[in-house]
Amino acid sequence: MKKYAMTIGGRSVNASDHFEVLNPANGEVVGLAPKTTAADVDRAVAAARAAFPAWSAKPSAERAAACNAMADALKANAEELAQLLTREQGKPLSGLGSRFELGGAEGWTRYTASIDLPVEVIQHDDNAWIEVHHKPVGVVGSITPWNWPLMIAIWHVVPAIRAGNCVVLKPSPYTPLSTLRMGEILAAVLPPGVLNIVSDGPEAGPAMTSHPGIGKISFTGSTATGRKVMSSAAETLKRLTLELGGNDAGIVLPGCDPAKIAEGLFWGAFINNGQTCAALKRLYVHDSLYDATCEALVAFAKTVPVGDGLDEKNLLGPIQNRMQFDKVSGMVDAARAAGARILTGGVAPNGPGFFYPITLIADATEGMDIVDREQFGPALPIIRYSNVEDAIARANASENGLGGSIWSSDPKQARALASRLESGTAWINKHGDIRPDVPFGGVKASGIGVEFARQGLEENTVIQVIHQ
Ligand code: NAD
Repeated sequence: MKKYAMTIGGRSVNASDHFEVLNPANGEVVGLAPKTTAADVDRAVAAARAAFPAWSAKPSAERAAACNAMADALKANAEELAQLLTREQGKPLSGLGSRFELGGAEGWTRYTASIDLPVEVIQHDDNAWIEVHHKPVGVVGSITPWNWPLMIAIWHVVPAIRAGNCVVLKPSPYTPLSTLRMGEILAAVLPPGVLNIVSDGPEAGPAMTSHPGIGKISFTGSTATGRKVMSSAAETLKRLTLELGGNDAGIVLPGCDPAKIAEGLFWGAFINNGQTCAALKRLYVHDSLYDATCEALVAFAKTVPVGDGLDEKNLLGPIQNRMQFDKVSGMVDAARAAGARILTGGVAPNGPGFFYPITLIADATEGMDIVDREQFGPALPIIRYSNVEDAIARANASENGLGGSIWSSDPKQARALASRLESGTAWINKHGDIRPDVPFGGVKASGIGVEFARQGLEENTVIQVIHQ
């Protein structure tokens, strides 16, 4: 069985101990990941710190060129990485799956290469010389989840490197192999120590969040872990970007045509099997088109093939891990027991793998876990409402505030209502459309700070004012 290695200081570093990474489609071992210790984290941080003076002193154009070289390396190795990603994550090669994720990773890298943070001049005259400089923080620690492991690693790593930082990256224990391999490929086009990739192990995450040699943590994961990260980082006063859980609401207004919006609603909710932070997780539909919307969604769901992601005809794969499978199936069972109607799905097939069918749940209400908490899986509760003001209030009655959407045939009304959603992004007639040139982040318990665009790049810097 292939043993994967860490990359520290430009060299491949083997661990003394390893753990198995399983294919969620069939339970087979995909490979062995190194078990990272606190001492490994120390070594990676030391390598990053050693590389920092030269890397941060490079002209911006040279760092932009290095980011473009990373994008070229991603492109050249995309198929190998996509295959490995499908085998350990479960998402299909096709559709909005692994190849799509690799394409996104390359696109984000190229766009990030193209942005810059020039010196801002406040005053340049005989009375004063005042400039604002954006300087790198030093070492950025990146901690990533298992749902979009490569894309999210790129979202952390590339802006950090572009801004002049050096990085230590730690993937999730569920999907470390594709990140270890991608890291090896990317580190090879950078000076040694600029990008270091460790793996998981009980000590690894806490060792990073408390490490005095790390100046900032970019964390994407659950709200519960985000709280631990913030608390652990407090002692050393680290900068933080926290991209946490979501429970995004979509509101379908009277006057919509259910047949026209069904596909957008479906993929807004079921992209990556619902295992997406800013997926649509609660759908509020007006009484006047409730039944028609349910019917249109069921009809669309029946056209989507689910199965092993290595089979190119499939558009959705298994749930990624046992814990998540149990959570989703438990929430669906509880909703059914509480009186919700399962329109399609709701019963897992026998056989290997964590397969769970596309599940649409009518007559769902607040008070059911599947509405109140983030399900993070292929099950969508559809909630009936009769008053738009009431729907907005119910959408906002959540500790989360990542995304939200308004579905309407009246653009002016849609924009007015979108601005009243308590969410980092409010989409209109779509859900989850993210772009590298548009800042993205959560409010309330969905996070702190933003990623992407100039604003995301700025979060990888500290400000220094030169004042004469
Ligand atoms: P998780 O919180 O369980 O794990 C995330 C990462 O944190 C993993 O690498 C894990 O090993 C690490 N970790 C665990 N305990 C730690 C500790 N004490 N200190 C430091 N690191 C620790 O999340 P997950 O299950 O991998 O991912 C799913 C969650 O991520 C969902 O809630 C989803 O909404 C969220 N998410 C958010 C965004 C966003 O942009 N807001 C994007 C993707 C996923």
